[in-house]
Amino acid sequence: MSTVFEYAPAPESRAIVDIKPSYGLFIDGEFVDGTGKAFKTVNPATEEVLAEVAEASDADVDAAVKAARRAYTRVWSRMSGSERAKYLYRIARIIQERGRELAVLESIDNGKPIKESRDVDIPVVAAHFFYYAGWADKLKYSGYGETPLGVAGQVIPWNFPLLMLAWKIAPALACGNTVVLKPAETTPLTALLFAEICQQADLPPGVVNIVTGAGDTGRAIVSHPDVDKVAFTGSTDVGKAIARAVAGSNKKVTLELGGKAANIVFDDAPLDQAVEGIVNGIFFNQGHVCCAGSRLLVQESVADEVMERLKRRMATLRVGDPLDKNTDVGAINSAEQLAKIRELSDIGEAEGAERWSAPCELPSNGYWFAPTVFTGVSQAHRIAREEIFGPVLSVLTFRTPSEAVEKANNTPFGLSAGVWTDKGSRILSMANRLRAGVVWANTFNKFDPTSPFGGYKESGYGREGGRHGLEAYLKGEDS
Ligand code: NAP
Ligand code: MG
Repeated sequence: MSTVFEYAPAPESRAIVDIKPSYGLFIDGEFVDGTGKAFKTVNPATEEVLAEVAEASDADVDAAVKAARRAYTRVWSRMSGSERAKYLYRIARIIQERGRELAVLESIDNGKPIKESRDVDIPVVAAHFFYYAGWADKLKYSGYGETPLGVAGQVIPWNFPLLMLAWKIAPALACGNTVVLKPAETTPLTALLFAEICQQADLPPGVVNIVTGAGDTGRAIVSHPDVDKVAFTGSTDVGKAIARAVAGSNKKVTLELGGKAANIVFDDAPLDQAVEGIVNGIFFNQGHVCCAGSRLLVQESVADEVMERLKRRMATLRVGDPLDKNTDVGAINSAEQLAKIRELSDIGEAEGAERWSAPCELPSNGYWFAPTVFTGVSQAHRIAREEIFGPVLSVLTFRTPSEAVEKANNTPFGLSAGVWTDKGSRILSMANRLRAGVVWANTFNKFDPTSPFGGYKESGYGREGGRHGLEAYLKGEDS
């Protein structure tokens, strides 16, 4: 049904990265041995063990929080905004200078295609530091006051390791806070390289502390009594546990959680562009995207045509080596995540939906899942309700705009949505009725540091990015 293209492999060299056999924790400006155990991080495309990484114990987390408190009181909160900005600009420039190294390392540790880490993740990371560097000396115009909170404890997931770090660290530092951050267990390496960048930028010791580890380390950070602010991005279940853990304390909390976005295609939409948007919406980053367009709602009159074009396009996606510049879809981040995707997909089939997977050859080692689409999905199906967090799309149909809105909003989540139509008036009326933090029109998965991002309902609370993103790290106008 489709032309098969032959491509010569075009792998990016990994010689630019220097992965050490083992890593310690970054506390008070230095790499130190942890007092706890160690864990391994692997390359999900090959299952190769990349390095041993320290698992921060409660005592290590305590040392990191103490270092952050000292740096806050003695240095960072006393420094003028324009001085803080110089450090943030310096970090942003070093990220650009070392962009290729960061991109290759991100692809090796996470499994995402190099064209995404190189062209999306790392440039947006640098942009975030540049953007918040610009705010550091202008906080009096923020509308949220100029007083920092103190020490921020930050816990992030594995899907955009360095980008989530940037979303957390850049606004915190710009506002005068210091941080203790835990990257995800499966993707610690770019956060540790970022720690080296902090050293290179001469950031005062203790302003940024990186403690690697698993759930227990995250728990130790969020429940530490001397942490003033908790910022978490991850699953809704862990987010709820964190909300319970900090209830009754004075900690300020922001939670960026899961999503199940509707990508809505009307019959007047330019269908080829819409198909590109559907593919980008669900197969970008292997579908490991909180705001992924995982529920496609197609107007019934064009459903057959859209499905035909979509399958034709999906058959051309190249799945494989993340370091190959031709790769569209890389490896699933972990064996655990692959098991979850398989389980929910099998449930989809058992519930009666029809499954179609792109005919691609998957490598024999590593964790892989072919781009998959389910048709005949009903709103009650678990694949339509739960986050799969993988390259799996569920397709539902609708007849009228009201039905589309009703189906799109019929979810416990509310992070994002997409609308594809030729009519500007319809875009505006849909955007007003969709309960989603971000609504993209005739595009999808666009990220910019100036634009606030966050959810409704079980997708969490608080906003990251833009002026609104400063609120999470400042005491407010009256204080
Ligand atoms: P997760 O299991 O909730 O883990 C997120 C982070 O929390 C990891 O660093 C994890 O450590 C740590 N953690 C686990 N249990 C903890 C606990 N009890 N207390 C404190 N920290 C704990 O989520 P994930 O599977 O890594 O990430 C996928 C989820 O993130 C999806 O639901 C996705 O939608 C969401 N997400 C949301 C956004 C957004 O902006 N809304 C952005 C990206 C991703 P380990 O690594 O050791 O498990
Ligand atoms: Mg890894």
